[in-house]
Amino acid sequence: MSATRRVEHLIVGAGTAGAAAARTLRAEGAEVLLVGRELDRPYHRPPITKGLLQGTESRESTFFEGLDDVELLTRTSVMALDTAARVATLQSKEEIEYGNAVLATGAMVRRLNAEGAQLEGIHYLRALANAESLRSDAEEAERVVCIGGSYIGCEAAASLTAMGKRCTVVMLEAEPLERGFGARAGNWFRGLLESHGVEVVGEASVQGFTGAERVEAVQLDDGRSLQADVVVVGVGVLPDVMLARKSGLELGDTGGVRCDAQLRTSAEGVYAAGDVCEYASVLHDGRHVRVEHEDHAERQGETAARNMLGAAEEHRTVPYFFSDLADWGSLEYVGAALDWDEEVVNGSLDEGRFSVWYLDSGRVRAVLDVNGLGDLDRGREAIEQGARLTRSEIVG
Ligand SMILES: Cc1cc2nc3c(=O)[nH]c(=O)nc-3n(C[C@H](O)[C@H](O)[C@H](O)COP(=O)(O)OP(=O)(O)OC[C@H]3O[C@@H](n4cnc5c(N)ncnc54)[C@H](O)[C@@H]3O)c2cc1C
Repeated sequence: MSATRRVEHLIVGAGTAGAAAARTLRAEGAEVLLVGRELDRPYHRPPITKGLLQGTESRESTFFEGLDDVELLTRTSVMALDTAARVATLQSKEEIEYGNAVLATGAMVRRLNAEGAQLEGIHYLRALANAESLRSDAEEAERVVCIGGSYIGCEAAASLTAMGKRCTVVMLEAEPLERGFGARAGNWFRGLLESHGVEVVGEASVQGFTGAERVEAVQLDDGRSLQADVVVVGVGVLPDVMLARKSGLELGDTGGVRCDAQLRTSAEGVYAAGDVCEYASVLHDGRHVRVEHEDHAERQGETAARNMLGAAEEHRTVPYFFSDLADWGSLEYVGAALDWDEEVVNGSLDEGRFSVWYLDSGRVRAVLDVNGLGDLDRGREAIEQGARLTRSEIVG
């Protein structure tokens, strides 16, 4: 195979992790080609359910900075990766020989495969254009149903309520955000949403949608019907491993690309970073973990880039996540608690400023900080050190 051109560092996927890798490599003067299949240059996704949806943030303000001297191909998919020959084939059929590569292909929304799923007015949120089309579609709408009780469904419901819509969140779990933060914090978030007029329907499963051409109602398994002019579906994502699978890379138990602690995949010279990356986490005693947060994707992009330059460093950064429910409340979270057997609350749930510490046999696994209580740094440090803390040491 004779390639059309050669680059030192190839980055597949021009999203959060890809952009961070490109920035890091260029800062060291390295030669980079960043290839992404979207129409837009790399941008922040969090505003899609927040400011961009509400119209308080512009499209321009979502674009990542610091990429001016990065060679970027938009609207271009990498179709194949011959990891033995180190050659990538682009959609244009152009072949690129690379020194090393990073897969930063992100994740795809999980689609609801229910009756009526093809009706107009049903939205998924991943790309910039999704926020724009939801915003314009919701203009005339009165009632919105958000399916899914994780941050996408809750944030969208808060934003759309702030825009004057009557919103219902419907989910399998009993409480919103319960899967990540437990039932106690989830119940507090339910109270926050309800106090601003959001209807929260827990322990409910969607059977399908009814309407002529456009959705008119969401049908639940128990026979209930929720009127809807617009529906937002936020039922999780699946790591985008299409290219990785086709290229013969090893995949892991969470469905991501399996990597070691240095973010190396099973193919020599190929790294992975971001939502697609399932890495052996030093913070989890080597257990393979996949995290879907913006800051984590950026930090992993940077680690992968440094390793592409020969650093051979383990990815040790404690994951960080934030979310805003309109201007009603904000949360931040450090760590990634896979399992925990104790929750310790610091501050006051009643006053709405608190933290929840998630402990596994006393070891701090994660900390949720609501409305800026100020426990994040202490929590991060404890997680980094693998510290075991008692309730009195936390609340002290
Ligand atoms: C609506 C929304 C709100 C969010 N809000 C928050 C938040 O408040 N806080 C937070 O911490 N996180 C938030 N996140 C999560 C965060 O945005 C993601 O974790 C982060 O974008 C992951 O970065 P990534 O680079 O792994 O993937 P992405 O940013 O998805 O980038 C992957 C890119 O690769 C491209 N690609 C895939 N395959 C190919 C191929 N073969 N060839 C070329 N290109 C390819 C894709 O098109 C995509 O552009 C939110 C996500 C969404 C969708």
